[in-house]
Amino acid sequence: MKHLWTPWRYKYLSSAQEKSDCIFCLAHQCIEKKECYVLYKSTHNLVLLNLFPYTNGHLMIAPLQHIATPLEATQEQLNEMTFLMKQSILFMKEIYSPGGFNVGMNIGKCAGAGFSDHFHLHILPRWHGDTNFMATLSETRLIPEELDITYEKLLPKYNTLIENKHN
Ligand SMILES: [Zn+2]
Repeated sequence: MKHLWTPWRYKYLSSAQEKSDCIFCLAHQCIEKKECYVLYKSTHNLVLLNLFPYTNGHLMIAPLQHIATPLEATQEQLNEMTFLMKQSILFMKEIYSPGGFNVGMNIGKCAGAGFSDHFHLHILPRWHGDTNFMATLSETRLIPEELDITYEKLLPKYNTLIENKHN
């Protein structure tokens, strides 16, 4: 296992742990997207890996704008989010062949949102035999695959979206 010293990642990870900064806004500002595990950035949203994943391939889609609920988002933002959700499910199906998916949002602290000021959509591939959804979005657990490996697997898929955009 390789550990590279990257000041940005350190800042990103420590902020995420302290929850003093918004990780989605940090990720949006991230110059080197790999340092923040950003898989894709589009007009209104970004797709990134969850730093504290529940399963391999646990990712999140968040608006670029710092807004707390979908009520504050435009329909266009939400439409793009839905498009990215569909693509993400497709990509994970191709890579992980999971038995199913959980897709969901925790809106507001009382609903379990870790970063309640910036809403985001969780997408998790699921396999037969792992535990239930209620535990899923509030727990952190160790998973067998390193984040970097997950990132390298998924990134080429999201890069096809960029290519398609330019064609
Ligand atoms: Zn934010």
